[in-house]
Amino acid sequence: MDPEAPLVIVDVDEVLGLFMRGFEAFIVGRGYEMRIERFALFQSIYEPGSDQHLDIARGRVLFDEYFAGEVEHMELTPGAAAALGAFAQVAGVIIQTNAPPQGRDPRTRWLIRNGLDFPLVINSGPKGACVAAIAAKTSGPVAFIDDLMPNLDSVADAAPHVSRFQLVADERLRPHAHSAPERHPRYDDWADLQAAVLEAILK
Ligand SMILES: [Mg+2]
Repeated sequence: MDPEAPLVIVDVDEVLGLFMRGFEAFIVGRGYEMRIERFALFQSIYEPGSDQHLDIARGRVLFDEYFAGEVEHMELTPGAAAALGAFAQVAGVIIQTNAPPQGRDPRTRWLIRNGLDFPLVINSGPKGACVAAIAAKTSGPVAFIDDLMPNLDSVADAAPHVSRFQLVADERLRPHAHSAPERHPRYDDWADLQAAVLEAILK
């Protein structure tokens, strides 16, 4: 890392990639259906005809299976690759994901296949401590992008000098996603987010 350059730290699922769409295609292939009526992954999986969501433990098994292989076929979010290309012209780029261990290799292949050949950091749990450690390696401005409020809040606590941005890639999830735009500006379109991040790190 350049110890003085700006830096952008960016999440994968529901930010760079359309996680919900990919996971939905996977569970549909297993005979289930996704009903997006709240911002809660495991409470959105149903057996056809049932009005009770699938058992949470069963949902977690499906999630783990998805990450073991199918996750590498996830669709890229429109505009994401162009934005990272623009960031890389003026800043370092680090991709930070909470993918489970079995997702490491499929995720790496997905990034390379989509031209996102940037350093990948696998995190677990709230992202603040990890972002603070990475951000400490540069004296330049740092931006952090994620879809989840707990991660954005965690970074605000652990590394308050890092500019935070929220993007929720799936259009169906957007109305259900919690946000606090006064603390973490939200841009659900990558072109808008790209402009806002560049403004923050080049000011
Ligand atoms: Mg995410």
